[in-house]
Amino acid sequence: MARILTGIQSSGRPHLGNILGAIAPAIELSKDPKNESFFFIADLHSLTSLKDGGERRAFVRAIAATWLAFGFDYKKNVFWRQSRVQEHTELAWYLSCFTPFPMLANATSFKEKSEKLADVNAGLFTYPVLQAADILLYNANIIPVGKDQKQHLEMTKDIASRFNQLAGEDILVLPEPQIDERIMTIPGLDGQKMSKSYHNYIDIFLPENELKKVIKKIVSDSTPLEEPKDPDSDITFKLYSLIASPAEIETMRANYLNGGYGYGHAKQALLECMLEKFAEPRRIFNYYMENDPELESILVEGEEKARAIAQETIVKVRKVLGFSS
Ligand code: ATP
Ligand code: MG
Repeated sequence: MARILTGIQSSGRPHLGNILGAIAPAIELSKDPKNESFFFIADLHSLTSLKDGGERRAFVRAIAATWLAFGFDYKKNVFWRQSRVQEHTELAWYLSCFTPFPMLANATSFKEKSEKLADVNAGLFTYPVLQAADILLYNANIIPVGKDQKQHLEMTKDIASRFNQLAGEDILVLPEPQIDERIMTIPGLDGQKMSKSYHNYIDIFLPENELKKVIKKIVSDSTPLEEPKDPDSDITFKLYSLIASPAEIETMRANYLNGGYGYGHAKQALLECMLEKFAEPRRIFNYYMENDPELESILVEGEEKARAIAQETIVKVRKVLGFSS
């Protein structure tokens, strides 16, 4: 039995990158009866970038509704809000004392984020430690993530090994990242990694007219309509090829190469493709967004399951560290 774990931060509305890079592959894996899935909403992590409590609450709901919209079976699996299981923060503190400072200082995602964000706080710096706690609390073995998270998972293994070495036994289970190389890092409107905190993302649950406006903002070069265009260097084409069928992709590629096909046409095709492919998830998402008590009770049920497992780990860790008899 493999335990799969994935978290999405509640730092914004879930976007196409989260869905294709994390949510959809994780749900696919969860369908295998040999797997047990642990999916959580990383609301504590979101505090590194988002301070407003009301916004966080709304984003948490939207992320929970997204998991359900893409067919996640919450009865069979475990689904919870990180902040409601306090063992996450407790284990994070213990693990931070097993984390060499230079390891965090060399983290690529910290370097990238600290260059782009105005609020570079200590939480952002120690983020990989809390992430290690998220994984290690549940003895998760498989972590399906986007490429951006690979280094953090190496750190988790390193931190867990250091703890196990002190304990003299394998109390913490070393996880394996599972990266779908075909998916890679999905670009945002501006061509950088699509990210909630860069505000360059596509929220596939927007009403049609708003989604259209967002898609219009995708950056393109200034090649005139009549001229041939390079599909492989264009963001709209890249996004389209992640969701369209092989035949549709070939048609668009030919259109680009032939000329007479503008970026506006490609964006309209992308919009239509999204509305079609995501019609059912959009319907379920809206259902849960309008039924808050139902969503809440699903989360509370999941939190009881998560807490029971997290407590088993924390009891062992406390014992090793002399925090319990
Ligand atoms: P933030 O900007 O707050 O870090 P984010 O948009 O990067 O938010 P996360 O919550 O950090 O999203 O990531 C959730 C999951 O989605 C992770 O597994 C991550 O690898 C994946 N993911 C995030 N952005 C992308 C992307 N652009 N392409 C592919 N996968 C992504
Ligand atoms: Mg991120």
